[in-house]
Amino acid sequence: MDFGSWPSRAARLSPVADRDALPALHRRDCSWHGEWRLARCRASGDRVVTSAPRAKRILARSLDRVGLLALDVAVRGPDTVLAVNYHGTPRRWASMLERHFAFYSERFQCLDEVGLLRFLTGGLSLRRTGIVVSFDDGIRDNAEVAAPLLERFRLVGWFMVPGGYIDSPLAAQPRFYRQRIRAVPDAEHPADGSGHAMTWPDVRSLADRGHVVACHTWSHRTLGVDVSAADVDDEVLVARDRLAAAIGRPVRTFSWVRGFPGDYSALAHNAVCRGYDLAFMTMSSAIHRTSDPHVLHRFNVEASFPLPVLRFQISRLNEAAFARRRRSVERAIRG
Ligand SMILES: [Zn+2]
Repeated sequence: MDFGSWPSRAARLSPVADRDALPALHRRDCSWHGEWRLARCRASGDRVVTSAPRAKRILARSLDRVGLLALDVAVRGPDTVLAVNYHGTPRRWASMLERHFAFYSERFQCLDEVGLLRFLTGGLSLRRTGIVVSFDDGIRDNAEVAAPLLERFRLVGWFMVPGGYIDSPLAAQPRFYRQRIRAVPDAEHPADGSGHAMTWPDVRSLADRGHVVACHTWSHRTLGVDVSAADVDDEVLVARDRLAAAIGRPVRTFSWVRGFPGDYSALAHNAVCRGYDLAFMTMSSAIHRTSDPHVLHRFNVEASFPLPVLRFQISRLNEAAFARRRRSVERAIRG
């Protein structure tokens, strides 16, 4: 997608602009979603297959069977926090999600915004490895399916929402969803899904119930070097203020959109540093006390992933596989 050709600032901050960007978004979505392989939903009849690529499932199961992935989790220790990020959480994957949450609840100490900030500033000692459980994109099933399940396990969710999606009229949301959030259906984003965002009352309710609400830009826009200073300002700082006004409380955390080195820039990073206490990317790395609070990485997991794949995703093997991309992002944000 050519972000330079986006509509004017005013038009872009209004509900869905009519653009024909599907082919480009398709390519980006596919590359984004699979770290190693194209992640794709294969539905045959009523059988819906996980979006975890087959090769990864086989590797993860082999490593899990001999206990290597459980060992990797066990030796992380209390000086480490792992942040994971989900996207869609449709009801058909609720039982798998339940297994994920049971695993977090049993093996980790779940952190909210204050907890993570205190950990990073040395004011909080963890009993176990920390976990941050986040959900990107403000999709309605995050509020309807994931949040009640989280609460059943006494976990706190971090909901990274693009305000413009939530702010769009209901009838315009499916188009926003297809054009700006998820062009290609997969296991977590089925073709028969509604494409609806959570509502503002949903978002306020999540915050009232102790979950974290964070800014995921306003328009679900990547912020590479081709984005102007005015647009960065809109998507990072104006978006924060609009979200804060909508939920009636400060917004302290930012989550970048997508995750290629070209989706980052020093200009946007500087705005994020000025406007937020915490910022998340998605280049699969553990968080330590010495981590830069504006360069925190998450491990991508999805609701359909079997537990061995989840354990593989948060393992140091996956962390090592992302080292080069992390260095590229680091170069992009340092200019
Ligand atoms: Zn997103």
